[in-house]
Amino acid sequence: FIGLWVAGMLSPVGMSAAGGNIEMERFISSLLEKMTLEEKVGQLSQCSGGFATGPDNTQISRTEEVGKGLLGSMLNVCGVKETRKFQEAAMKSRLKIPMLFGMDVIHGFRTGFPLPLAEAASFDLEAIKMGARCSAREAAAAGLHWTFAPMVDIGWDARWGRVMEGAGEDPYYGAKVAAARVCGLQGDDLSADSTILACIKHFVGYGAVVAGKDYNSVDMSWGHFANFYMPPYKAGVEAGAATVMSAFNDFENRPCTGNEDLLRGLLKEKWGFQGFVVSDWGSVGEMVNHRYAKDQKEAANKAIMAGLDMEMVSECYAQNLADLVREKKVPEALLDDAVRRILEQKYKLGLFDDPFRYCNEERERTVIGAERSRREARYMAERSVVLLKNEGAVLPLASSVRRVALIGGLSKSQKDMCGSWTCADESKVVTLYEAMQERGVEVDFHEGYDLESNEIKDLKGTLKAARRADVVVVAMGERSGESGEMTSKGDISIPEQQQRLVTELVKTGKPVIVLMMCGRPVIFNEVRQQALAILCTWWLGSEAGPAICNVLWGDYNPSGKLPMTFPSHLGQLPLYYQYKSTGRPYANSGWCAKYIDIPSEPAYPFAFGLSYTTFEYSALKVLPGDGGKVHARVRVEVKNTGRYEGEEVVQLYVRDEAASITRPVKELKGFEKIALKPGESKEVVFDITDEQLGFYDNRMNFVVEKGDFTFMVGTNSRDVDSVSYTLL
Ligand code: BGC
Repeated sequence: FIGLWVAGMLSPVGMSAAGGNIEMERFISSLLEKMTLEEKVGQLSQCSGGFATGPDNTQISRTEEVGKGLLGSMLNVCGVKETRKFQEAAMKSRLKIPMLFGMDVIHGFRTGFPLPLAEAASFDLEAIKMGARCSAREAAAAGLHWTFAPMVDIGWDARWGRVMEGAGEDPYYGAKVAAARVCGLQGDDLSADSTILACIKHFVGYGAVVAGKDYNSVDMSWGHFANFYMPPYKAGVEAGAATVMSAFNDFENRPCTGNEDLLRGLLKEKWGFQGFVVSDWGSVGEMVNHRYAKDQKEAANKAIMAGLDMEMVSECYAQNLADLVREKKVPEALLDDAVRRILEQKYKLGLFDDPFRYCNEERERTVIGAERSRREARYMAERSVVLLKNEGAVLPLASSVRRVALIGGLSKSQKDMCGSWTCADESKVVTLYEAMQERGVEVDFHEGYDLESNEIKDLKGTLKAARRADVVVVAMGERSGESGEMTSKGDISIPEQQQRLVTELVKTGKPVIVLMMCGRPVIFNEVRQQALAILCTWWLGSEAGPAICNVLWGDYNPSGKLPMTFPSHLGQLPLYYQYKSTGRPYANSGWCAKYIDIPSEPAYPFAFGLSYTTFEYSALKVLPGDGGKVHARVRVEVKNTGRYEGEEVVQLYVRDEAASITRPVKELKGFEKIALKPGESKEVVFDITDEQLGFYDNRMNFVVEKGDFTFMVGTNSRDVDSVSYTLL
């Protein structure tokens, strides 16, 4: 049936993606008429860096190629001086088509923001949007037009190192975050010179690589894809993302980069995507490795036919596309469509009016690293922290806490505070160690363990410092290089020695507070039991130190919730809360999907996170809808029953009790973050529309079926109250 979308649509005539802008359409049509085949291929080609490697490894500047109109885009060329140089070269070319500069601006630019997974823990879409705005503002000031973000791949397997780049495991929430990030990056108007093109990646299903191994293959049905992986891509496209990146992996036995059903069928035809598709790094050429193309020429052929517009770094297009057209294997109109899509984005960015509008030295000096960026980075960092444990209300620290034993080299490491995939200026990162000192407390720092080998270091001195201190704060977890691309792990447990250090510190009788710095869910069962308090502080970026201090001392009351389930055992992976109902769900008798040798319970369920205050949920009720789109309303009352002002993420989960396909035990279908003063109550109302009740059937139609549903409301995906509802 997917083929049906594709059938007949390769007729290349009239494939305008102009979206109704007549002036732009005319301008680009007349430009296209003037372009040679080679110039067209140039627009479809992107290289990395400003130099090509010549004979004997010599470095040849790309200005010449650009000047001939044979290259339309570059990645990893950044800074106004550099981009201006190549833009000037482009202006010497025959048709003066401006260059497009892209880069991986993933979580902040020079001002580092928390890693995307951490930002997602905020469940604060406005803050996430603000973070993306800030990244765009700084990147645009550095001459960039385009970022390869957001990554919206759903991650169910924490062994996959790239979960750090996404919004976690949930498709509903992932879709909201994808849209927020696109809106933040692109703003309301791309012609404002502080916005940049977004790129939804990796299309599709990269998060489902088998066994969490990066670059592995993917095998899933369209029906599974539609309900669990597709929503964030679709939401990103609907939010207006200008570009989409095809994934490295295969999908339904064809590499995504050469997969016509995906690129032309689903994305361009079914969703009406008007922007352009860029390959992932070298992924056109890699179709040969996939054994999907016999050589680079066939790879180019398959990619262009599939709807891949721009090739990143491999040169299959540059070397073969013009020949393929001359040999009549590829209709020229297909190239025209791809070129048109790319030129449209250049046009929308205002580059045809002024190719140098992103090349403003004054702006570069004042915008990048500005106080505003730092303030926003700190705001985001505070909201990304998740409180996992707080026994005896040891946190927030009393103002009487004057002497802190700070253990762990991570607390002093500027690089590790930023995390991977970062553009941040490391020298400007305020570490936890510095921030504590700025707070005026006496900080007794000890490494505790070696960052490289994880061996315990100077245990005696460390314990002595602990005994002398009011509290012990231990920074542990992963180094920045341990999560990200190419960093899949077979074991996501925190090294034994790090955990043993905590055991020893706890024996001193001093309150031990653990800061878990990580780029993915990690396993730390001993620490979980032994530490009095645990904060998941991920990698928080340039303002990591001040943000963590503000949380420790209660200037900010933590409100984050885990966007991924944290396992308690490695063997549980892949792990996610929205698993399917099975035919044998009888946990008590053992007739259920489980292992006999490890627990089934995760360490922390999806969307778990505590606060320094407490919240009480009551009066959960289903109310009638509006007789129109709103089928019903779910109402609950939430009261702050503790001593501190705080924010709570009120969550709505839905279960379809009987449907035409098997459905999960529960799915997040709404959330609201509310702020409450001590003693204050608020009513939260969720509208139940088709979005909450529907799903994709096996033919990928969105359907809403009548019948019984259960609505669950609570503070995380496990601790919920439920009410029943019937859609008549
Ligand atoms: C990654 C992409 C990234 C690209 C360009 C690839 O290896 O998979 O996410 O955008 O490199 O740096």
